[in-house]
Amino acid sequence: KEILLSVRNLKKYFAMGKSGVLKAVDGISFDIYKGETFGLVGESGCGKSTAGRTMIGLYDRTDGEVIFNGKNVHSLFEKEKFHFYKQMQMIFQDPYASLNPRATVKEIIAEPMEVHGLFPNRKERLERIYQLLEDVGLNRDHANRYPHEFSGGQRQRIGIARALALDPEFIIADEPISALDVSVQAQVVNLLKRLQEEKGLTYLFIAHDLSMVKQISNRIGVMYLGHIVELTASSQLYKKPLHPYTQALLSAIPIPDPDVEDQRERIILEGELPSPMDPPSGCVFRTRCKHAMEVCAVKKPVWQEIDKDHFVACHLYNVEVTNDGNKEMLIN
Ligand code: SF4
Ligand code: MG
Repeated sequence: KEILLSVRNLKKYFAMGKSGVLKAVDGISFDIYKGETFGLVGESGCGKSTAGRTMIGLYDRTDGEVIFNGKNVHSLFEKEKFHFYKQMQMIFQDPYASLNPRATVKEIIAEPMEVHGLFPNRKERLERIYQLLEDVGLNRDHANRYPHEFSGGQRQRIGIARALALDPEFIIADEPISALDVSVQAQVVNLLKRLQEEKGLTYLFIAHDLSMVKQISNRIGVMYLGHIVELTASSQLYKKPLHPYTQALLSAIPIPDPDVEDQRERIILEGELPSPMDPPSGCVFRTRCKHAMEVCAVKKPVWQEIDKDHFVACHLYNVEVTNDGNKEMLIN
């Protein structure tokens, strides 16, 4: 497996004036392999969108590194960066808000090409736009229409065509189906999968729950309050979630087969997501964790590989910390 993108101890803090510093992303590290879909999951406010935007340069990072195709993005000169970031594009959650209502579909898709000076020949550019429309399941008759003339699903297709305009290698899809009707969600997921195969794309797929990401993701990282708390293959995460937060997220999604009786214990998360301006000491999840121990308040859990390619940050799995049987309790 070839690594396309590495994130190392990435941090994004926002200064909030007198009220302090918002630690939206507080030191995350992971690799994304070429051609895979990496799911990033967590409640709204956990920092996943900020992480994505920081990875592709829409936000300046506070600390840490992003390495793409072996190049450290932050070591590039501004002009190089501009070209470099062509390879990374984003699909946004809200197809209503992310398309300029006064621009035609043609203009919307042409914009990134204009910015980067691609296809300066008008006729070639138009052909390219028609091709992109076909790629996403629309057609050339749509080119002169405006966003309001389309359904939510079609608008997301326009957003996808725009993201493809620069022929990127890597696309961040930030909750691309959350704003869509359930009936069209699967269509958009299938479109993304087909495009991935046809064009060899790599995705970071951001979602706020674990119900939809399973089908599309090869691996999943679970994010809580600016940290990644667990990371493993999608199938493994659903079979054997280790982190108490992942277990809670999983217990919240219904079993799809109506004939199977749902006997799982529903884990209710008590309390609110703490403020990222004032995160809990030690383990950031401890204020809502029913397994919290004394050590959780004083020591930050280290990131460790528990099974092959299965990483978690939780004291329950730290043999040094737990000699009281908690570990067995959760693993078996
Ligand atoms: Fe819960 Fe402690 Fe594990 Fe955090 S480190 S998830 S508080 S058991
Ligand atoms: Mg978001």
